Amino acid sequence: MSLLIKNGRIITASQDYTADIFMEGEVITTIGKNLRMKADETINAAGMMVFPGGIDPHVHLDMPFMGTFSSDNYETGTRAALHGGTTTVIDFVLQTQGKSLRHALEQWQARANGNCLGDYSFHMAVTDFNDNTRLEIAEMVDKEGITSFKTFMAYKGALMIDDRQMVGLMQEVKKCGGMVTVHATNGDMIDYLVAKHRAEGKFAPLYHYLSQPEITESEASGRFADMAIYTGVPGYIVHMTCEGALNHIRDATKRNQKVFAETCIQYLILDASLYEMDFEGAKWVMSPPLRQKKDQASLWAGINQGLVQVVATDHCPFKWEQKKMGEKDFSKIPNGHPAIENRMELLYSEGVGKGKISLNKYVEVTSTNAAKIFGMFPKKGCIAVGSDADLLIFDPKEKHALSAATHHMNVDYSAYEGWKLKGKCKTTILRGKVAIDNGKVCIPKGYGQFVKRKKVNGII
Ligand SMILES: [Zn+2]
Repeated sequence: MSLLIKNGRIITASQDYTADIFMEGEVITTIGKNLRMKADETINAAGMMVFPGGIDPHVHLDMPFMGTFSSDNYETGTRAALHGGTTTVIDFVLQTQGKSLRHALEQWQARANGNCLGDYSFHMAVTDFNDNTRLEIAEMVDKEGITSFKTFMAYKGALMIDDRQMVGLMQEVKKCGGMVTVHATNGDMIDYLVAKHRAEGKFAPLYHYLSQPEITESEASGRFADMAIYTGVPGYIVHMTCEGALNHIRDATKRNQKVFAETCIQYLILDASLYEMDFEGAKWVMSPPLRQKKDQASLWAGINQGLVQVVATDHCPFKWEQKKMGEKDFSKIPNGHPAIENRMELLYSEGVGKGKISLNKYVEVTSTNAAKIFGMFPKKGCIAVGSDADLLIFDPKEKHALSAATHHMNVDYSAYEGWKLKGKCKTTILRGKVAIDNGKVCIPKGYGQFVKRKKVNGII
């Protein structure tokens, strides 16, 4: 099977030129002007941009939570991702405290394997670091190709590890050639504030926001950076939202440290005023919460200064019925919002379209950097001979609006209902096959493959 894309404007993290791309089997074999080889299928991409397929390294599909599951499973979630130009996602396996990493991995594999349309990989969330867990780290890196280990500094009694476990994990992961990632926040302070607000009879979604002030995140980001420099482990902060946290990363550079940072699309374009609506604000109840306009400005600047390398989603959708579990108590609202399908178009329209980031930076933060940081480059994250033929053909001019009525995510509302965007995903190609063409799905469930990742050392 061969496929030829003619006359597309090819944009990578460092280049911008018009050429043809020829792919045979799953990889790109030739790039050049006026290619004449015979292909089984030819796509005319004149007037279109061609990007490397998007990589979203922060999603939660079919995730067990509070007696329910996030509403997109691996089939609907990866299909929606492909509709939105994202060809690879990295999901999180969550260890159950008291049980092994292997036990958790088997549960996640049972839900994911054979069900994905798009390619996928796993981070391993270590929630209970002990002598047994320590022995499993090398096995995850060497045998499973899982080279990033997520930690939570929040959700005490379920997911949170203390600093003693954090330092122990960092030393082991460093030794094995992996990376430690973190939900950086001060879990004890949040627990106190949640309890205080509930005791005062304050149950609206607004109090979810007020229970996680900026300082909880900035303090923990600094603490994480300190432990990372001490142990020498490559570190990555997920879903960074605020100026204070970013400044801790900026400070870390003054002592020659590199801590990677990811923000998510919502923190760049939505703000906490949404929590002032009554219960409707539950649509945006997520942790960390949305912040203020000044934080958005910091994050855009952080992207351009190279301090923030990745724009992900933390896609974790719940239907309205599920969100209503917290109608009388903000602390019972399942955390998360749907965005896996919207990230590429939103960031193009709001970022490139409004002059906040360059086209090359757009490719860097939606694809290339995630591939490099997480050990998938140059298989993923670029348009080059020998790389997987994962491509997004994008119409930069087409105008459209986002809506739950037209999206493909398995959730009955849109966090961006009515948003008017310029720029639309037209054709998504995954490993040499057209996966989505003008809204039509062209590959079966099960086409998506698990991506084993390489060891990482914190240098990209
Ligand atoms: Zn998350």
